[in-house]
Amino acid sequence: MIKYKLICKDCDIKFDSWFASSREYEMLKKRKFLICHSCNSLNVEKTLMAPKLINSKSISETKFGSKHEKIKKIIKNYQKFIKDNFQYVGNNFAYEARSIHYNSKKKSKGIYGSASKQDIKELKEEGIDAQMIPWIEDKDN
Ligand SMILES: [Zn+2]
Repeated sequence: MIKYKLICKDCDIKFDSWFASSREYEMLKKRKFLICHSCNSLNVEKTLMAPKLINSKSISETKFGSKHEKIKKIIKNYQKFIKDNFQYVGNNFAYEARSIHYNSKKKSKGIYGSASKQDIKELKEEGIDAQMIPWIEDKDN
């Protein structure tokens, strides 16, 4: 048995149909036994499978690409927000975070900078709120 996806060229409806073999399909078509279920047209063809597979692959790659770009854009927007609203402290992040936390007189503007996972873990244990975020190095800036 072989399954073909058939298309009616008159009403553009696609449907699956089973045949004993590709020869049976050709025979039924010749004898005009292939009829559209929807409009009874004889203008029914089997759809070409191979080009369709190539198309769906290239479409999924395009989708992946645009999704990646979308995530990158979200991160970049987030980075811009942080750059505009937070103070950059470079590698002193853990030190600065502690000095803000323990010195209530110091103005508590948010800070951002580099910290190791161990730093973040220790800050959290001390009750200091710190978040790790994905960061894209932007060489244009
Ligand atoms: Zn039809």
